[in-house]
Amino acid sequence: MDAYKIIEHKYDVVVVGAGGAGLRATMGMAAKGLSTACITKVFPTRSHTVAAQGGMSAALANMGPDDWRWHFFDTVKGSDWLGDQDAIEYMCREAIPAVIELEHFGVPFSRTDDGKIYQRPFGGMTTEFGKGPPAQRTCAAADRTGHAILHTLYQQSLRYDARFYIEYFALDLIFDNEGVCRGVLALDMAEGTLHLFRAQSVVLATGGYGRAYFSCTSAHTCTGDGGGMVLRAGLPLQDMEFVQFHPTGIYGAGCLITEGVRGEGGQLKNSKGERFMERYAPSVKDLAPRDMVSRCMTIEIREGRGVGKDADHIFLHLEHLGAGTIHEKLPGIAESARIFAGVDVTREPIPVLPTVHYNMGGIPTNYHGEVVTKRGDNPDHVIPGLFAIGEAACVSVHGANRLGSNSLLDLVVFGRAAANRCAEILKPNAPHKPLPKDACDAALSNLDRLRYAKGGTPTADIRLNMQRTMQRDAAVFRTGETLLDGCKKMTEIYDSFGDVKVTDRSLIWNSDLIETLELQNLLGQAVATIYSAEHRTESRGAHAREDFKDRDDNNWMKHTLVSVDTAGKTSFDYRPVHMYTNGDVDVVPPTERKY
Ligand SMILES: Cc1cc2nc3c(=O)[nH]c(=O)nc-3n(C[C@H](O)[C@H](O)[C@H](O)COP(=O)(O)OP(=O)(O)OC[C@H]3O[C@@H](n4cnc5c(N)ncnc54)[C@H](O)[C@@H]3O)c2cc1C
Repeated sequence: MDAYKIIEHKYDVVVVGAGGAGLRATMGMAAKGLSTACITKVFPTRSHTVAAQGGMSAALANMGPDDWRWHFFDTVKGSDWLGDQDAIEYMCREAIPAVIELEHFGVPFSRTDDGKIYQRPFGGMTTEFGKGPPAQRTCAAADRTGHAILHTLYQQSLRYDARFYIEYFALDLIFDNEGVCRGVLALDMAEGTLHLFRAQSVVLATGGYGRAYFSCTSAHTCTGDGGGMVLRAGLPLQDMEFVQFHPTGIYGAGCLITEGVRGEGGQLKNSKGERFMERYAPSVKDLAPRDMVSRCMTIEIREGRGVGKDADHIFLHLEHLGAGTIHEKLPGIAESARIFAGVDVTREPIPVLPTVHYNMGGIPTNYHGEVVTKRGDNPDHVIPGLFAIGEAACVSVHGANRLGSNSLLDLVVFGRAAANRCAEILKPNAPHKPLPKDACDAALSNLDRLRYAKGGTPTADIRLNMQRTMQRDAAVFRTGETLLDGCKKMTEIYDSFGDVKVTDRSLIWNSDLIETLELQNLLGQAVATIYSAEHRTESRGAHAREDFKDRDDNNWMKHTLVSVDTAGKTSFDYRPVHMYTNGDVDVVPPTERKY
């Protein structure tokens, strides 16, 4: 192994990631007087959060009656009862001050005529505990809400004394011999230098792993690096079988067309010109939750009612909304449709197809952002020194299916919660405990092995094999047969990584090496996802098994914990779902999920 020189830094807190979650945590930590570093592989405002379109939910009741308890009910039902109800209670209650705070920070929300924050309807959001009409709950800045929030949070975080390490790639978590997380090792991609960030707490805010699939709405940087680090540290991930397909990705391109289009009145139609969602979800129609709409579209296509020459997609119509509404409320998607589908949305429908969009699963945490796992009889054992927030985490507020506009909310609420928790349990500038001499050895030898890898298979080939397999075998509908086949293939692909070929040996702007490190992270999570899907023999939320069509609360009302060892072998354990609240709202008992 090369002799690597390591530059050391000491902070109270190190946040890995500068998307919505990482930035909200970073500014919160710094505001509380904790010395804070934020490490990010891309410039903060290029994080995937910038692409969020439709908005952020909060029961402000600006455009009709609303109540955060209704939001709580919708989220529990949307999660198909796999969400932890104490965490959902916390998120929906805190949503209201969280949006007001963002407004005061300067987020340029769209406005109603009387100057209040504009709110649009979104899928699965209702009133009166599911009995009333759709709620107008999603706060929007036209169709560029993520852009507005991310830029505002970055500007705010610069007000405080947080230090940014931009274009640094975090390689691995560093633990002491007692299993306490003490820091993170990172590569400065521009200088080619290695940096050990020592900290009392490390916060993973690294986003999702959408790029494990061939067609997804997420950025190329969404490679689940935090989840990869956690698996390498020997800790399990949670509920990885639950992958959200967004109903309206642009056919062929994968770019997102926000659910806000249907919120504003857009309609899905099949080849007969029929508004088919009326048949499947008579009350909410096109505004049913995403898992349901994606399944209905897939059924329409399978039964021969798809559109286009191969009858393999669906049309999303918004011509009837009129050019005025489109240009005021949905300017971004009009542009995307023109560029990526060659369509003028004021005159023609957009060709769309369900596309991978969001990972409900991730690093298990409690609602303070602390990473938890099962130890002995304790299902909520806290891993000292380690936090996870945002899409990388599984709190779990989204359970088996996330409702649209609940993710931007999750980022801000739990980014803030993690900062509050650190302020409670850490002493600013406390001395750092000594680290064992070999603390960085495993991380360095992994880096060295990949840097000098001289096998026969290029990184891009292994990645494409993985993406194709996941797309085909861990899809909207799943069956035991194709899942088993997919597991077998994913294991072969995982093994083929032993033969990976890296041609560039340098450490400076070595995209070959970085993509290989990212692929390693994706592979662990792809294996975790497909094996967990094979393992869960029921249908719940986004996990729809054709061989087990019903939800099975007796056997499966529990979170899956999946570990993946270095040989790619999976093992399973479980955590109970939190069927309790802190008392501000009553528990929603499980019933059949109908809309
Ligand atoms: C196209 C699109 C539209 C969406 N629209 C909405 C919406 O309207 N409403 C809604 O609620 N949700 C929406 N979502 C979902 C939501 O935007 C995401 O779940 C959320 O933005 C994720 O934020 P995050 O902070 O967890 O991670 P990200 O924004 O993905 O940021 C990850 C950060 O981690 C850093 N990072 C990752 N790995 C490393 C590493 N190894 N070393 C250093 N840094 C690293 C990156 O540099 C980046 O700063 C949308 C998602 C997509 C893809």
